[in-house]
Amino acid sequence: MADFILNSHLLSNLTIAVAYATIPLTVLLHFNFFPNAARPLIGLAAAFVLSCGVGHLLEGLHQADILQYWHWLTACISCISALAFAVVLPQQLRRNAILGTIIENIPIGLGLLREDIDRRGQRRLRWQLASNRAIVDLGQELCGRWFDETILGQSSDLAIETFLDVLDTSHPILRHELEICHPLSGELETYLLSCVSLPGKHLWILWQDVTARKAAYTSLSEATAQLEWQATHDYLTQAGNLVLFDRLQIQEPKRFSGLLSINLDRFKNINETMGHDIGDVLLQSLVERFQAQLRSGDVVVRTGADAFLILLETTDDRIDLEALTQQFYAEIRRPFLCRDREIQIDASIGFVDHAAGDLAQMRIAGDIAMQVAKSNPLGKRIVVWTPDLMEQVRDRQTIALDLERALQRLHSGSSEFELYYQPIVQLDDPSQCYEVEALIRWVSPNLGWVSPGIFIPIAEQTGAIAQISDWVIEQAIRQVSRWVNRLRIAVNVSPWDLEREGFAERIVGLCHQYDVMPSRIALEVTERAVTDKQEHFAIALKQLSSAGIRLKIDDFGTGDSGLGRILEGRWSEVKIDRSLLPESSRDLGRIAICRAIANLCHDLNIRSLAEGIETEDQRLLLRELNIQDAQGFLFAKPMTEQHLADAGWVILAS
Ligand code: C2E
Ligand code: MG
Ligand code: MG
Repeated sequence: MADFILNSHLLSNLTIAVAYATIPLTVLLHFNFFPNAARPLIGLAAAFVLSCGVGHLLEGLHQADILQYWHWLTACISCISALAFAVVLPQQLRRNAILGTIIENIPIGLGLLREDIDRRGQRRLRWQLASNRAIVDLGQELCGRWFDETILGQSSDLAIETFLDVLDTSHPILRHELEICHPLSGELETYLLSCVSLPGKHLWILWQDVTARKAAYTSLSEATAQLEWQATHDYLTQAGNLVLFDRLQIQEPKRFSGLLSINLDRFKNINETMGHDIGDVLLQSLVERFQAQLRSGDVVVRTGADAFLILLETTDDRIDLEALTQQFYAEIRRPFLCRDREIQIDASIGFVDHAAGDLAQMRIAGDIAMQVAKSNPLGKRIVVWTPDLMEQVRDRQTIALDLERALQRLHSGSSEFELYYQPIVQLDDPSQCYEVEALIRWVSPNLGWVSPGIFIPIAEQTGAIAQISDWVIEQAIRQVSRWVNRLRIAVNVSPWDLEREGFAERIVGLCHQYDVMPSRIALEVTERAVTDKQEHFAIALKQLSSAGIRLKIDDFGTGDSGLGRILEGRWSEVKIDRSLLPESSRDLGRIAICRAIANLCHDLNIRSLAEGIETEDQRLLLRELNIQDAQGFLFAKPMTEQHLADAGWVILAS
C-alpha cells in the first residue's frame, strides 16, 4: 500500500508536471502568432507555468531539499510575471487602445484581416478591424462583405490567392489600382490599394478613393493634349503648323523621304474678289483633300496663308513619290464648290526627295523648287529640285528687286523701259504691214539689258505686271494715236491683267482719251493662259470684244488646249508659235499641224499668223498652207518708233 501511495504520488505529480510543461511549450511553439509587444509577458507566464511543472516533478521524486530552492525560484518567476503583467499590460492595453483609435479615425480606408480556415478547409481572410473611413466608404454593413463581394468578387487578377500570396511573404507589400463598382452608390470608383503582411497571418489592407484625383488627372491630361494639339495645329484648316514642323525637324529629321512645298497661285485674288469667307472654306476643303490622300505617317503643314508642306514618310514599300505629287496636284486642280460657287485654283509645287538632306534642308530645297515653278506661272506647275535651282532663284530675286526699283522710278517720270515695235505683214505680200506688235524693252543701270522673256514672268509672280501692263498699254495707245497711216497695234497682256477689276474699262477709256478707234488695238494672250484661266477672265474678254478691241491667242501650240479651245473665245487671230513652224518641206509633221490650224481658223473666220519666220523657204511653205499673216526677223526685227518710221513702216504725225 505504502508502495502504491508512493508510486501514485510520483505518478500524479508527474502527470501534473507533464500538463504544466505542455501548456507553455504549446504556447512557445506558436510564439510567432503573438504581437511583438506581448511576447515577453507570454514568455514570463510560460516560464512560470513550466517552473510549476518542474516543481511537481521534483515533488514526485521526493527531492525535498532541491524543492525548497525550487519553490523560491518559482515564486520569483511568478512575482516577476505578476509585476510585469501589472506594469506592462495596462500600458500595452493603452497603446492598443490609442492605436485602435488612430486606426478608427485615420482618414483612409484601413482594415486588418487575418487568415482563417473555413469549414470546408479553405483558406480565407477574416476582418478584424476597420477604420471609420472604411465604414463611411462601405456603409455600416462593414467592410467584410464589401471586401468579399466587391474586391475579391470583381477583380479576377486580385483574387484571394494574391492576398494570401502577400501573407506567404513572397510579396510582403502589394500596390494595386483597382476600379470597382461601389456597392452603395453603384458608381465606378478607383481605389489605390496597398496590402502589407504582418506576423501572425495578419494582413493590413489600406485603400484610398482616388476617383476624384484620377478624374482630375484624366481631364488634366486631356486638357494638356488639347492644348498641345492647338499649339501644333492650324486653327482654320486643322493642318499642322510651323511649331509641329519645327518639332519634327528636331526630333525626326530623317523620317521623311519626300517633301512638297505648295503655294497657291494668286489666292489673294480669291480673297479679294469673293471674300475671305469663301477663301477660308476653300482652304479647309483643300486640306481635307490633302488629308484624304495622305498615308498614315504623312503630314500636312500650313506654313502661310496659302502655303503648305506635305511631308511624305519613308516606307518599306517603294512608292513613286513623283506620281504621288501628281495626285496632290490633281486634287488642287479639281474644282471646288464653295457656297454654291465653283472655283478652280492652281498652285506652284516644289518637290524634293531626301537627297537634299534632312528635313530642314528638304524644306529649303522644296521652297526653292516651288519659287521656280511660281516664277513661271504659265510654265510647269511642279518643279523637281536639283542643286542648280538655287542659282536661278538668287538671280530671280535680284531681278525682282531691281524691277521694283525701276517701277518706282517710273512714278518720278524717268523710265528705264521702252516700247519696240515689230511689224506684222501679209504672208503673200510682206511689204503690206497692217499692224505692229509692241514689245517692251528694259535696260537696267545695274543689270543691263534684261529680256522680257525673263522679267515678265517674274513681274507676274511679284504682281509688278499690273504696273508694267498699265504703262505699256497707255504708251501703245498714245503712240498709235500719232501714226497717221492708221497702223494698228497689238499689245501683250498677262492673264492676271484680265482678272483685274476695271481692266477692260480702263483700255476703252484710254482709247477715248487718245481718240483711237478700239479696233486699232489688239490684245495678245498666251495660249497657256487661255487654257488655264479662260473662265476667270471670260467677262473681261466679252467686255473688250464688245468694245471692238481685238483679241489674239499668242504662242498657239505651246499649251495643251487643243484646237477646239479656239471656238470658246472671241478671238480674232491665232498666232502660231515659232516652235511649230516647219523648217523645210520635209518637216511633214509640223506642216500637217500648221495646215490643220490654218484650215480650222479659216473655217471659223479667224485670222492665222505664223510668228518667228526667219527664212524665205519658211514663208513660201507657210503661204502654201493658207496662213494669212506673218511676223519674224525675215521681215523686220522689233525696233524703236523712230526706226519704224525711218524704214517706212509707219508715218508719224508731224
Ligand atoms: P511674244 O509675244 O510671242 O513676242 C514675240 C517674241 O518673238 C519677241 O520676243 C520677238 O522679239 C521674238 N521674235 C519675233 N520674230 C522672231 C524671229 O523671227 N526669230 C526669233 N528667234 N524671235 C522672234 P521678245 O521681245 O523677247 O518677247 C518675248 C516675250 O515676252 C513675248 O513673246 C511676250 O510674251 C513677252 N512680252 C514682250 N513684251 C511684253 C509686254 O509688253 N507685256 C507683256 N505682258 N509681255 C511681253
Ligand atoms: Mg505676243
Ligand atoms: Mg508669241
